[in-house]
Amino acid sequence: MAFWTKLEAWYNDYGRTLPWRGIDNPYYIWLSEIILQQTRIEQGRDYYLRFIEAFPTVADLAAASEEQVLRLWQGLGYYSRARNLRAAAQYIMDECGGRFPDTYDGLLRLKGVGRYTAAAIASFAYRLPHPVIDGNVYRFISRLRGIATPIATDSAYREFEALLTQLIDRERPDRFNAALMDFGALQCRPQPDCTACPFADECEARRTGRVDMLPVKAPKAKPKDRWFYYFDLRWRKEGVRYGRMHRRTGNDIWKGLFEFGLMESDHRLEGDELQNEVWRFLDITYSCQEAGYTITDEYLHQLTHRTIHARFIQAELPEEPVSHPADGMIMTDRQMNSVPVPRLIDKYLQTL
Ligand code: SF4
Repeated sequence: MAFWTKLEAWYNDYGRTLPWRGIDNPYYIWLSEIILQQTRIEQGRDYYLRFIEAFPTVADLAAASEEQVLRLWQGLGYYSRARNLRAAAQYIMDECGGRFPDTYDGLLRLKGVGRYTAAAIASFAYRLPHPVIDGNVYRFISRLRGIATPIATDSAYREFEALLTQLIDRERPDRFNAALMDFGALQCRPQPDCTACPFADECEARRTGRVDMLPVKAPKAKPKDRWFYYFDLRWRKEGVRYGRMHRRTGNDIWKGLFEFGLMESDHRLEGDELQNEVWRFLDITYSCQEAGYTITDEYLHQLTHRTIHARFIQAELPEEPVSHPADGMIMTDRQMNSVPVPRLIDKYLQTL
């Protein structure tokens, strides 16, 4: 039986019902695809629904402030995705007359849109025959055909794209792609039940006993450790409690999000060394030789390429400290809970 006939029969029985399936609104499809990168479907679904409610059109998203978008994105990680969404929405409004690009190449010009996302929007919104290739598709196809090229490399992408371009249903590329992704996610899982698979009699990995060995993955780099020491200094004025937060800038994690004054070290600070560095930072940055501070235990926060070890230095000051440089924003407790912050800071704030 032809590949698509078999796959479609399976999809008719087991395909997933998702809020962004069966629609042809390119803006909604784009939002869903960007949210779902590096995110589980269950978690992504809530964010998707919140985004389309807050920004029902691309014009609404383009008009939103970066802070509004980041706040809504909070908890999803990879914040550059949110900044790129807003930048691309503004590009669509300013450069494309508010019209969503309707070609594969036009889609690739949107900030944050790569080959996978362009193929997804092109096929789901415009029924253009571009195959989507995500981790699930790599797994299924590499096993089915016994392909040992390390995945997620440029040459693997071209190899799988050429193969799937031959197989794709040119009339219904949207259905084909949805079925392909679902099959990889639900049937050809990391530990699959091959006895229930409609491709069992032609699967190369099964025939050669290599199901556990495919797909071949390029070795991952070990995450790098970083040690963050945050200064959560508070004071009261006319009965209201204040603190100071700073917006992260530069080409680093969490750009655009807010955090407390930060001292970063290239190793773990402990004992006298920690006390001395804290005192020095308080003196130099805040002109404040506050003796009554406490230091929390370590908060461990895992990112894909970084392990953050964070401790918070807490102090109640008699008055607002002088800050050098005089940047940052003075906020009430309530304001701290309404600006976009990294999940690590949010976790900390929730424990207070
Ligand atoms: S037989 Fe097993 S490994 Fe092969 S495609 Fe089916 S589920 Fe995947």
